[in-house]
Amino acid sequence: FLSLHGVHKRFPLKDGELHVLEDISLDIRQGEFVSIVGGSGCGKSTLLRLLVGLEEASGGSLRLDGTPIHGTDPARGIVFQDHRLYPWLTVEDNVLLALANSPLDKAERLARVHAHLELVGLRHFAKAWPAQLSGGMSQRVAIARGLVNRPKVLLLDEPFGALDALTRAQLQDELARIWLTEGITTVLVTHDVDEAVLLGDRVVVMEPRPGRIRRIIPVDLPHPRRRDHPRLAELRS
Ligand code: ATP
Ligand code: MG
Repeated sequence: FLSLHGVHKRFPLKDGELHVLEDISLDIRQGEFVSIVGGSGCGKSTLLRLLVGLEEASGGSLRLDGTPIHGTDPARGIVFQDHRLYPWLTVEDNVLLALANSPLDKAERLARVHAHLELVGLRHFAKAWPAQLSGGMSQRVAIARGLVNRPKVLLLDEPFGALDALTRAQLQDELARIWLTEGITTVLVTHDVDEAVLLGDRVVVMEPRPGRIRRIIPVDLPHPRRRDHPRLAELRS
């Protein structure tokens, strides 16, 4: 469904080039949740930027549903660590902006935005300003924005990295619920190994210089059980 084959990425330097990703091959099934972990600088964000189309690969192929990935597309939604909400737009308008190129009319767009704010538990915050939201709420808005185009793939780059432990646990739980209900193919980049195992069907472990896949670990535990992980319950109480 989402397939990477022999993907390389090099950045030009003053003297030579920086080899950031080398020979990355990975096949992600439709509806699968894949976590990617690895040390700082091993190319995780670069890999997501290739998948979302913000960056072109230096070699190899990236395909979604058989179609080569070129440039950004509403079929691929992304959520960054820093939510990147526009402070001068309301919550509603921030999410609406993601539908700028949508064929839907105004009323349909608004309905879609409100449905997604509801999905992330922010139904009553449509008219709020980003500055009025907590970090966790801002990240929920970013998730709503990432999903509002009904993408085939949701890409998340350390979406909870800047949150406190309790809020992080709540959002992990919510992401699991959204993933279960929407059945959306999801790729999560994280520093947090616990989070990777908690949410992923498979965990891709990367190593740096140049970034390669060291191993891929299947998580043989059904998702609802992971969602009720004792540590989460403990944190929530
Ligand atoms: P972190 O865990 O700290 O977020 P990461 O695994 O996401 O790290 P990347 O951000 O993908 O790592 O960066 C991998 C390497 O590529 C780093 O050495 C970085 O400096 C380099 N790099 C990333 N983007 C560019 C760019 N546009 N030009 C040059 N070098 C870049
Ligand atoms: Mg990164």
